[in-house]
Amino acid sequence: MEHQVGKAYHCGILFFTALLSSAAAAEHPAAIYGDLPDAKHAWAVHDWNRPKPSRVAVDAKGVPSDAIVLFDGSQESFDRNWRTEKRTRAWKVEDGAMKVTPVRKNGAAVMTKREFGDCQLHIEFRHPASLAGDTERYPQSRGNSGVFLMGPRYGYEVQVLESYPTCAEMEGKPGYVNNYTDGQCGSVYAENPPLVNPLRPAGEWQKYDIVFHQPVWKDGKLVHPGSITVFLNGVLVQDHWEMEGQTTHLKRRPLAPHPKTGPLTLQYHGCEVSFRNIWIRPLASRWDNKTHSSMSADEASVAKLRRETAAKLYAKIKNPDAGDAATVKALAEVVSYSNESVYVDKLRSAAKKFYSSGPREADKRSVGNDLDALVRSGAVPDGIGR
Ligand code: MG
Repeated sequence: MEHQVGKAYHCGILFFTALLSSAAAAEHPAAIYGDLPDAKHAWAVHDWNRPKPSRVAVDAKGVPSDAIVLFDGSQESFDRNWRTEKRTRAWKVEDGAMKVTPVRKNGAAVMTKREFGDCQLHIEFRHPASLAGDTERYPQSRGNSGVFLMGPRYGYEVQVLESYPTCAEMEGKPGYVNNYTDGQCGSVYAENPPLVNPLRPAGEWQKYDIVFHQPVWKDGKLVHPGSITVFLNGVLVQDHWEMEGQTTHLKRRPLAPHPKTGPLTLQYHGCEVSFRNIWIRPLASRWDNKTHSSMSADEASVAKLRRETAAKLYAKIKNPDAGDAATVKALAEVVSYSNESVYVDKLRSAAKKFYSSGPREADKRSVGNDLDALVRSGAVPDGIGR
């Protein structure tokens, strides 16, 4: 549904600018535009007052300014951000990369000192070029590692594997390396294979961009299984996969409640793999959105924000007792957020003044549209001020 005032705005911004410049301090031309706030939505459709996103700049390397850089190629950033569970010689910094090398004993995963939950993650990895022509090696030992979101204990693994030769087109042909499909690179390990195989040959850098949302539990009950979206070399390989369990080998391990944060962990699998350019952006869960969501908003939080917005907008009206069109429209906007009687009474008396002042037809139409929208939404009784 589009209110008439919306159409009018599209047709004539100058008209509204002129209309509003006469009275209330308005920062936008149309007071009521799309469908109004309701019990689950603190903001109207196309709401000009809705908070704007903050600026994030992206540097020449593609790193967003609000990202936490976990590895920039330096020993210092490795030492600052990463640890291993036990003493191991498996991980070292070499040529700007975090490199895992096979060790005889005490092989161990590396994990971040900080813990994360829902996140956007960028990480680049490379398998040794020597694997490019090697078709004899057991598939799961071809450059195996893994990105474990939320740690190795209750984590969710996006597989890192040298599985460039493993694709449908090469099946049975020279150079093909078979492998279990839910364990090749780009898979949510043991659950879902990648949609396609966009790997580059071993020896070239590959990149993962991952969006991860952990499962959501409430009072011991699963509300949502969470999801993993993965781009491999810019190609979508996991399309919002909703997890079935926590990663394990051979078995289906069901989802179970766990702490809300865990370390980002890179698997040690006795293979040489390098990593570089690792950054992460912690994300808010949409389930934390209590003020504007048909799925997660709670009515008390919505009502509180609507009342606060109404108060803020009301405070900006220079003279709420004026009977001009802009004041009536500004009051109508206030009432669209909160129909507390103090606002409705002001609107009624301003509207009465407006209609008795012999207003222009265009102003009457514009004010009428706003009042009609309030009546339709149930915010005010029919015929307010008219
Ligand atoms: Mg692995």
